[in-house]
Amino acid sequence: MGARILTKRSPLLFIKLFIRFILLIVLAFVCMLAIYQTYHPGLHLAQTEINIGVALYSDIQDGRKLDSEISKISCNKPGCLLFDAKRTIEAEYFRYSRQRTTFNFNIARPSDNSIKSIQNPRGVIDGFALIYDFILSFQNHGMNYFAYDMRLFVNVIKKHHRDYSETSIGSQKSRVGLIEWQVSDKNNYAWNLTKTLHEMGHMLGARDKYMGIRKSHYPSGYVNPEFGADRPQIYTEIMSGTRPINRFLEIEPVLAEELRFGFPSAFEMGWIPKVKSKSH
Ligand SMILES: [Zn+2]
Repeated sequence: MGARILTKRSPLLFIKLFIRFILLIVLAFVCMLAIYQTYHPGLHLAQTEINIGVALYSDIQDGRKLDSEISKISCNKPGCLLFDAKRTIEAEYFRYSRQRTTFNFNIARPSDNSIKSIQNPRGVIDGFALIYDFILSFQNHGMNYFAYDMRLFVNVIKKHHRDYSETSIGSQKSRVGLIEWQVSDKNNYAWNLTKTLHEMGHMLGARDKYMGIRKSHYPSGYVNPEFGADRPQIYTEIMSGTRPINRFLEIEPVLAEELRFGFPSAFEMGWIPKVKSKSH
């Protein structure tokens, strides 16, 4: 008897349960969307003044060597990483928007002998664990994670400039970036600077514009696509990372002055209302 009732009612019960299940999914989705909106800031910052917290990491044991690298990052003249990054990005912002902005970098020395790694989170819980890790990392450096518009983790590591392995990443979510600062010599300074600006570009909303190692996407990865892919480019699109000499050959940037954002990147970062060039 009991079994008969169960069999009779089960289709209705199943439908009810199914509706509840769907409602639960919708509710969970709405909640996730709300959380996502909270932790994924609006596409574009009010870019009049941007404060960037920079937490340094390094596994270099030699204290004097480390000090010399840190001074190359933080010194306040041309040829210093954060000075050149600030000058380039402020000039680029002005070139596109005709408005002034200020990027303030606040640097904190490494708190121990370790380097930082960031794995892409696999889900919401993973994502929160990651943000908690960022907050603690900043705390260990004596900084408040929430006091900044953008947050950079910089690993100062020994690495040959021909070693193309790369762990630098930048994300617009939470505006966090990790940069590998290769212990510098003349060969890799410009590359360190390019990577820093590239990840900052990501943090501001710009997307990659390369198709492989030393292969800029045409036309979006070219600062002057109107020159055509066959002719040498004068500038390096920061979101491509290399400068096309012709359609087959590209070279790494040498000077801070050759680094530029192209129209599509400027558009993605909200610096111009829409892409001006007809070639895109
Ligand atoms: Zn990228």
